Amino acid sequence: MKKFFAILLSVVFIMSMSACAGGGGGGTAAAADDYMSWSPTPAYFNPDWPTLVMGTAAGFFPFEFIAHEGEAVNDRYAGVDISLAARIGRELEKNIEILDMDFGGLIFALQSGEVDFVAAAMTIRPDRAEMVNFSVPYFTAGQWVVVQIDSPYNSMADLAGRSVGVQLGTTGDFAVTDAEIDFSDIVRFNQPAPGIVDLIAGSIDAFVFDSSAARAFAATHSDRLRAFPDTTFFGAEQYGMAFHLENTELLAQVNAVLERALAEGYIDYLYDNYVAYFSPAD
Ligand code: GLN
Repeated sequence: MKKFFAILLSVVFIMSMSACAGGGGGGTAAAADDYMSWSPTPAYFNPDWPTLVMGTAAGFFPFEFIAHEGEAVNDRYAGVDISLAARIGRELEKNIEILDMDFGGLIFALQSGEVDFVAAAMTIRPDRAEMVNFSVPYFTAGQWVVVQIDSPYNSMADLAGRSVGVQLGTTGDFAVTDAEIDFSDIVRFNQPAPGIVDLIAGSIDAFVFDSSAARAFAATHSDRLRAFPDTTFFGAEQYGMAFHLENTELLAQVNAVLERALAEGYIDYLYDNYVAYFSPAD
């Protein structure tokens, strides 16, 4: 039920993004063709191939999200990690099955063997690296603050006495929790979308999460939201795909695919295209 609710929220959110996307999410034929030309389809299925189960938390545009039928790379999930997983599947000759859950449950799902790997814009951290193996770093991000467009906040210090939202168990949660700033409240959400909904509604004053998603969410709601970094406060982060500590074979195979993709600039290319495709037209 919880999972269904999360999916529903993502769908509502993506739909609202698409509604303001003017030729983006709704999609003209030409735009849809463009999208298909750069976003590979993992619907590629070979009955002779074994299945790799990928855990993700598909409420994190533009890394993993649920799009309209025909827009999503497998008619459901889309995003940088999903496109990368599609490529991993093709190159390793594995069918990729996606298991969607809250971000906070991903490491446990890996440890329990429910999923074979995790691709979820997950930041490489020493405490997590005790529980899982990380791939080579494949994307650099950091925390950004999303606020209402006309709000007076421009730094973390400005948020003293204010209510700040984060996504539970993420690096945004850890940074805000450890901050020596007297927020009136820290509100923890299982997914970013309900936090953004509450921010637009004014029940929280700011939402702190990864620059990769914060900039993209703000871009898709540029009439209501803006996002800013605070480099005196937040450091850089790097994403890695995560693997069971004992599954070093899969780790090595995926690293080889990621290294090729990085050398080609393919990952930044995917990111830029997803953001541009789902952002309002100028
Ligand atoms: N990069 C952040 C983390 O690893 C958030 C990832 C996410 O919400 N999907 O905690």
